[in-house]
Amino acid sequence: MLVKRTIVSVCFLLTIGSYFLGYGWGFKAHQIIVQMAVFTLPTEMIPFYKKHWQELKQASIQPDIRRYVWEDEKPRHYIDLDHYSTSDQDSLQKSWNDVLRSIPEDTLLEYGILPYALSLTKYNLTSAMKEKNGPAIVRLSGDLAHYVGDASVPLHTTENYNGQLTGQTGIHALWESRIPELEADGYTYWQEPANYISDVRAAIWHIILHSHSLVDSVLLIEQELARNIPQDKKYTFAEVGKKTNRTYSNQYISAYSAQMNGMVERQMQNAIKFTGDLWFTCWVDAGQPNLADINFMAEPPILDSIKTNDPRSTLHRK
Ligand SMILES: [Zn+2]
Repeated sequence: MLVKRTIVSVCFLLTIGSYFLGYGWGFKAHQIIVQMAVFTLPTEMIPFYKKHWQELKQASIQPDIRRYVWEDEKPRHYIDLDHYSTSDQDSLQKSWNDVLRSIPEDTLLEYGILPYALSLTKYNLTSAMKEKNGPAIVRLSGDLAHYVGDASVPLHTTENYNGQLTGQTGIHALWESRIPELEADGYTYWQEPANYISDVRAAIWHIILHSHSLVDSVLLIEQELARNIPQDKKYTFAEVGKKTNRTYSNQYISAYSAQMNGMVERQMQNAIKFTGDLWFTCWVDAGQPNLADINFMAEPPILDSIKTNDPRSTLHRK
C-alpha cells in the first residue's frame, strides 16, 4: 500500500475526533494507561508523576495529534509484521542500524517503526531525567505511555489494521475505542510495582509479538459474531450534527468483548505495567535523580542535537 493511514486535512477540526476513534486507542484508554502507570512507581518517583497527572494525561494523547501535522510521526504508531517474511521478522528485532543492513529504510517507514520509536523515546526520557528537565520528562513520559499503548493493540501490528482486507472495516475502532468507552470504568487496573528492564529491546518485542499473536483471534471472533447476529442488531444509528452515522450497537460491542474473554482489559493492564516498568528503567538508567529537584524552567531539549547512534533521533525534529 503506497498510501496508508493517510488523512484528509479538509475540515480537520471537525473530523479529527472521529479519526482518532479509528487509529489509536481512544483518548480514554490512553489516559487511563498513563494515569494508572503512576501507581506502579517507587516512592521516589510517585510525587513527581502525581503532581503532573493532568499534564501527563494530555501528553499521552499528543502523539496522535502530532501525526496530523507532522508526516514523520505517522509510522511511529504501528508495525505491520505480517508484511515481512519470517526471516525479515527476525531481522526486525535487531537494533535500528542492524535492521537497516537487511531491510531498506523506505520499507521500514512504510510498514511502521513502532518498536524503534519506543526505544528512541526510552533513550530520550532517560536523557531528560539525567538533565532534570521537567517539561521534557512529562512530555516524553506521555509519549512513551502512548507508544506502549499502541504496541498493546493487536491491530497496530498488522496490514489488515482496520479489517479492510477481510470485510471487517471498522473493527479497529470497535476493538480499541468502542469497547473501552463502554467497559473501561469496570476494569481492574491495579498492577504490581514497576520492575527494572535489563533488555529494553527484547521487552518491547515481547509486547509487540504478543499483540501480534492475538490478531487472528481479534478478527476471527468478530467474523463469527457477525455471522450470528443480524445486521439490525449489529448496528445502530447516531445523530452527529446534521448527519446520521451508522455505528456498532452496544449489544454488539458487549457480545464481541465477551467472546474475547477479557482480552481488551488484559492488554490495557499489560500496557499500564509496561509503561511503569519503562519509566522506572529510565529513572534508574539516569542515575536515580531526585525528582523533587526538577527544573521546570529548563527549555525543552533540542532533540536533534542529542548524540546517539540511533538515526531515528533525527525523527524528533520539529
Ligand atoms: Zn497512536
